[in-house]
Amino acid sequence: MSERFFVAQLTTTGEITLSGPEAHHLIHVMRGHVGQQVVLFDGLGHEAVAEITAIQKKTAVLRIAEHGTVSRELPVAVTVASPLPKGDRERFFIEKLTELGVTAFIPLITHRSVVQPDENVVNRLRRIVIEASKQCGRNHLMDVTAPCKWEKLIAEPQEGVTRLFAHPFSVERDGPPQPLGSDRTSGLPASLEALLTSEKVLVAVGPEGGLTPEEVGQALAKRWIQVDLGPRILRVETAAIVLAVLVGTIRQVRAQTQGS
Ligand code: SAM
Repeated sequence: MSERFFVAQLTTTGEITLSGPEAHHLIHVMRGHVGQQVVLFDGLGHEAVAEITAIQKKTAVLRIAEHGTVSRELPVAVTVASPLPKGDRERFFIEKLTELGVTAFIPLITHRSVVQPDENVVNRLRRIVIEASKQCGRNHLMDVTAPCKWEKLIAEPQEGVTRLFAHPFSVERDGPPQPLGSDRTSGLPASLEALLTSEKVLVAVGPEGGLTPEEVGQALAKRWIQVDLGPRILRVETAAIVLAVLVGTIRQVRAQTQGS
């Protein structure tokens, strides 16, 4: 894939001036030269082939050669709500969700959350989304919303949305494991039909310290589906990525094999 650059205001013809981090990438990292062709995308589904016509110290001018709409999105809208992991794991997490085609990410605040996402954090996540989209070829940016509290997330009416939350079943609380396919084994078999047909899926994951019994009770009372991901305890980002793969990639592969 050609080098790709993000331009919020992409025109269909004429010339575009790149500035800021995108110009820095083109001029100083990629060492672009006049006459070279690159791809521009606007994060709203459009991409264009453009030729570099001028380079200055901090800006570059490009002429649009071809403009079109190219979708590399999942056949289902997947929203992931999760607390942010600490340190480098945050970048890894947002990068992988972007690559997997997740539609939106909600920084989630729960009772035991450690990282409290402010506006700076949200802006940093949005920049990671742009960088990951450049690399993976996505033309739609994963939306990073304002932070949301658990109580608000689970209470919001969600017409036509399948809602799952990851939380291990406990033998003490839930009784012995049930045969595969029962409602209680993992939540997934019982909800498979909904997952394969829903146009929108919302998945939520708890923080490193886990969801409190009250938070679990609130979600179940609002008819969220609890999903057990097996007997090992996964990191926040692993649990969220597994759910994004289960919900999104399965649908993608199914759509491809059905030719739809
Ligand atoms: N000690 C915590 C607990 O018992 O819930 C562990 C939290 S885990 C590091 C972080 C989050 O990942 C959990 O709140 C849950 O949402 C999800 N998670 C991790 N392993 C899981 C599993 N095996 N099944 C379901 N969810 C899991």
